[in-house]
Amino acid sequence: MKFNYCPQCGEKLGLREIGDEGLMPFCNKCDVPYFDWFGQCIISAVINEYGEIALLKQERVSKIYWGLVAGYIKKGETLEEAVIREVEEETGQKVEKVEYLASYYHEKKELLMVGFICEVKKRKFNKSKEIDQVEWYSFERAKELLRSGSIARQLFESIKSMK
Ligand SMILES: [Zn+2]
Repeated sequence: MKFNYCPQCGEKLGLREIGDEGLMPFCNKCDVPYFDWFGQCIISAVINEYGEIALLKQERVSKIYWGLVAGYIKKGETLEEAVIREVEEETGQKVEKVEYLASYYHEKKELLMVGFICEVKKRKFNKSKEIDQVEWYSFERAKELLRSGSIARQLFESIKSMK
């Protein structure tokens, strides 16, 4: 998303040359450039000590396919903190180890999705109200439950290629 007006003061933005970026929207009143906006999310595979992966079902997203833990990064959080918080909120699992895997850009939603893998010790799920179902699955089964081409599926494939 491009800025046309200053989100701080409401002034119509002009253009100014900003280093290598070239002409960028600029607020003369606040003296700041506004780079194009996009959202930032984390997405994480959650794996337990038995090699099972936690899949989540959200009926409002899909009635057929399952997904992985995902959520927006809050202001002031690191990526790792966002992953640990989202995993706990959505599944009730306590993260022992978090590792970066790969990132994806969702063009339509203007969203940068940063993908991680988390290790947990299997414990009872305590899911958030946002989630309809959460279950442990084997990797073979998970492959059938994650929609082909989805970012969740791409992240899942990148774990398999790691092993
Ligand atoms: Zn301004």
